[in-house]
Amino acid sequence: MSCLFCRIVAGELPCRKVWENEHVLAFHDIRPAAPVHVLVVPKRHVESVWELDDRALAGELLLAAAEVARVLRLDAGFRLIANTRHDGGQEVGHLHLHVVGGKRLGPMLPR
Ligand code: 5GP
Ligand code: ZN
Repeated sequence: MSCLFCRIVAGELPCRKVWENEHVLAFHDIRPAAPVHVLVVPKRHVESVWELDDRALAGELLLAAAEVARVLRLDAGFRLIANTRHDGGQEVGHLHLHVVGGKRLGPMLPR
């Protein structure tokens, strides 16, 4: 299995787990861009938002991100990011939501 996040889901590679259920795993990003930076990934391989066609799984991902925010007490706010494909700057080809917070974040994108 060559997909990095599939290997993490399978337990072949370690991660710092934050939360999981049957469908979704959430773990700390290895190169955090903010005090809190967690990746929320489906346990089954989906390449990106572009390929996502499973409504139930889409809901699971969003609810998992909300659960992560509550577990990590991000009541002051946070940001969800889904970099998608080449122009979106996606580096890992396994769908993931970034949950970023723990400080006042700047503008969404540089202008
Ligand atoms: P992307 O650019 O695809 O949206 O984000 C991929 C994210 O995965 C990056 O923020 C990067 O730091 C993170 N990442 C890459 N390799 C690993 C890893 O082996 N473990 C963890 N926990 N995060 C990783
Ligand atoms: Zn995968």
